[in-house]
Amino acid sequence: SDHHLDYPLSPAHMDWSSYYPAFVDPDASKTTPDGARKLVKDVEIVDIGCGFGGLTVALAPLLPETLMVGMEIRTQVLEYLNSRICFLRAQQQHLKNKAAATSSESPAPAATEEEPVQKTSDKPADEAGTTTAVVPGNYENISAIRANTMKFLPNFFGHHQLSKIFICFPDPHFKARKHKARIISESLNAEYAYVLRPGGLLYTITDVEEYHHWILRHFQHDPETQAASGGIKDLWERVPESELEQDPCLRVMKFETEESKKVTRNKGNKYVAVYRRKADPEWP
Ligand code: SAM
Repeated sequence: SDHHLDYPLSPAHMDWSSYYPAFVDPDASKTTPDGARKLVKDVEIVDIGCGFGGLTVALAPLLPETLMVGMEIRTQVLEYLNSRICFLRAQQQHLKNKAAATSSESPAPAATEEEPVQKTSDKPADEAGTTTAVVPGNYENISAIRANTMKFLPNFFGHHQLSKIFICFPDPHFKARKHKARIISESLNAEYAYVLRPGGLLYTITDVEEYHHWILRHFQHDPETQAASGGIKDLWERVPESELEQDPCLRVMKFETEESKKVTRNKGNKYVAVYRRKADPEWP
């Protein structure tokens, strides 16, 4: 239950130092109110309900200077993901050490800045071990925390802190009486709008067509009834598919999360909707 969930008093109180040790500010005088070391930059990308972490693991080498976090409510899944990240970091260090030792004997192979290794396995347990080259960022830019994002998201992230939020294959909660457990709702969308910066993107994907329509309804005014504008929906605009063709994040979301691989295997449909956070309305 939530009693066992740790969450900071406010974003300023969050101690990220153990999550991103490579990004701790060398200036030791920069600390949180509780005395923890600060990072040189803020976490910018969040994967809500990240499961086994396929999204952040695949995004890590593509955006090596961007800090990303997966948030997951299930303890065992989170433990698995933490050890997966630990393993990937250690493996990178090992590969670097090996390359350094070889370079003292012969010219070093170039680090694969342009060509991060793409993993092909769809089993998390195998995937953790498939990297065979040094990748940009060494997975130091990703991390995972246990959290109930329906309750404590604004404790972790400040106003306009995030540039991207991913909600990939959210639990469908099919029965109407369970809809309140859905991770897309009018009040949660207001929180997403609060933590996402203007111009930032919120990505959604689901294999449940009815849930896709639920998502559309909760982000957009109904074009048929021309429901009155106003309210939280005015803060979102849908990004057309054509604009997303070149977005590598979309490919990762569609093909690299564990759930997306399962849907591909089962030849299921994938419904995508991406929303841009509009600027805050000007007050008269
Ligand atoms: N996004 C992953 C993927 O695409 O492979 C996992 C999808 S899985 C169907 C949904 C995940 O969301 C589960 O791991 C579940 O534990 C997590 N989840 C559900 N409600 C949550 C909440 N309130 N806070 C954090 N995680 C949650």
